[in-house]
Amino acid sequence: METKTCTKCQETKTVDLFYKRSDHSAKYESQCKACKRAHDAARSALPEEKLKRSAYLKKLRSSPEYKAKEAAYKYVYDRIPENKEAKKIKQRIRRTNPQVIQQERLRGSVYAKENPEKFVMKTMKRKAAKLQRTPKWLNDGQLFEMEIIYKYCAALRSVGLDYEVDHIVPMQGKTVSGLHVPWNLQILTASENAAKGNRLW
Ligand SMILES: [Zn+2]
Repeated sequence: METKTCTKCQETKTVDLFYKRSDHSAKYESQCKACKRAHDAARSALPEEKLKRSAYLKKLRSSPEYKAKEAAYKYVYDRIPENKEAKKIKQRIRRTNPQVIQQERLRGSVYAKENPEKFVMKTMKRKAAKLQRTPKWLNDGQLFEMEIIYKYCAALRSVGLDYEVDHIVPMQGKTVSGLHVPWNLQILTASENAAKGNRLW
């Protein structure tokens, strides 16, 4: 086989270890595959390249064509039996394995800290839902009862216990929406809460 000397590492290698040039000239790159890959990786790790890439992807993903394609792909993907089965197994592992849930939550909270702008809407929506789902007819005793539940939970958290106040019927459920009332509140460990998800509703 024909050989060529890499301009970077100066090694002489067979041409199959060089990429073909993209200009269709049937010539090979001057750097060997290994050197070219290292060069490209270093370049794409530059902050300005990362920014460029994420701006490009953001623009691409926001187009209606892309969204339609993505939805169509997901529709097909979700109906392939192997994928359905894999999803079930994943969910089962998640439900029966508190560590997995804890890891997920940790990743989530790191992500939330790094991208606060993405969570402003979510927090606002949740606050609005709470207000909207709090019936006007609750009496002072019932409002106080809810306050106590939150305070009790905050006290548990302050000593390092990972508890959360959960709405038994979620306030923003897919089919039914629960009320923000004392009898719809329960205190769960964070992992129990995460495992619960919205699946019952
Ligand atoms: Zn080389």
